[in-house]
Amino acid sequence: MEEISQQDILFLELRQKLQRGILFIRRDIAGVVTDVKIESREDSILNIQTPEQIYQVMLPGVGLVEASCQKIPEITEHGSHIRLCVRVNQPLENASSVIGKLKVMETYSFLCQSCGCTVLQDRVFKRVLPLPNGNWNALVDDWCCHPDPFANRKLLPRDEDCLLGDTYILLAWDSSCEQTLTQHAKSINKDSQEQRLSRQRVSVACRHCCTTLGEEITSGVLKLYITEILVEPSKDGKCDETLHRLLPKSNSTRLTRQRFLEQTLASRLVELSSTQSIFRFSLQNPDGKAIILLWLLNTDTLVASFPDAVVSIVADDVHPESSQPCQAVGAVKVLYFLCSDSKHKEIIDVWEKDISVHPLLLPPSSCEELQTLLISSTSRLPPLLRYMNSYQVAYMRM
Ligand SMILES: [Zn+2]
Repeated sequence: MEEISQQDILFLELRQKLQRGILFIRRDIAGVVTDVKIESREDSILNIQTPEQIYQVMLPGVGLVEASCQKIPEITEHGSHIRLCVRVNQPLENASSVIGKLKVMETYSFLCQSCGCTVLQDRVFKRVLPLPNGNWNALVDDWCCHPDPFANRKLLPRDEDCLLGDTYILLAWDSSCEQTLTQHAKSINKDSQEQRLSRQRVSVACRHCCTTLGEEITSGVLKLYITEILVEPSKDGKCDETLHRLLPKSNSTRLTRQRFLEQTLASRLVELSSTQSIFRFSLQNPDGKAIILLWLLNTDTLVASFPDAVVSIVADDVHPESSQPCQAVGAVKVLYFLCSDSKHKEIIDVWEKDISVHPLLLPPSSCEELQTLLISSTSRLPPLLRYMNSYQVAYMRM
């Protein structure tokens, strides 16, 4: 019964490219087949009536083919589901991450995502350049018939540069950083076959709330993870308007930490897959230890769900009660393994040796938060959807 208590009451998945969708209704909610009525209203609202409640889903840019809503739900041991046909009126555009939006000669402030304090104020970049992707050294080895000329050479920003990594940015450290950031050295022991190396990693934290935001690469270079910072355009209104939508305007409207992490990583996975055709990722801590192996499956998905504790409002003229409407949102569907899961050691070993699997570095705390987020997403799905072969399935909302 634990499965039922975690599973969402209703789960809707729509695929824009396939023009298909599926609606799941939990066993204890659906009642008998004839108790469930589904109708599409005004081309953008889906009404699902069960014996107890009416659930309403707002659909952005898509409508449902009316005839598909009139099908009788299929029953399984876990509940009812109905297959739907979708009409895409306006495909939903995936939001860009901050890395996709930073531009030259614009003024930005960088804020700690945890407490909202400004850590770097009014930075203007003369160059905003992408760094080579995470496996570039291995690829150079494969393509060059002579030793890698770039081996052991770091690509570092000069003053007024912003270098873009997969999950981080590199900036020049300046005197203003001393007031807002603190540095903490930590010894790291790294075993290799021939020798035991010992080196220091210097983490950089917000002076106000002590959250780790990144690292010091050298004494003049700062690495900030996109999962730990907010980037705010200058107040003169010259910046990209769409960036404003990603950013909090006040504490009350700030995204929760979990939602921010989910949205930031989902957007970044979509960008990397569309620009570099990468679909398999190894999420690693800063020491290069793989924590999660993740396979990006679909990027054209819209999802909507009603959690177990739905807040209901009583409508004057409607019986049964109407629940609060839910907005369907763009999401990515991912398959994943947690590397701590010893059951899948063989597959994990194969992934770790495969250079087409793209490493993505995140701070250890964000790796843990992402694990929690994926496990929670999986447990809220209908049991039928939770696994694909040996992989676990999750949805990350944009
Ligand atoms: Zn802070």
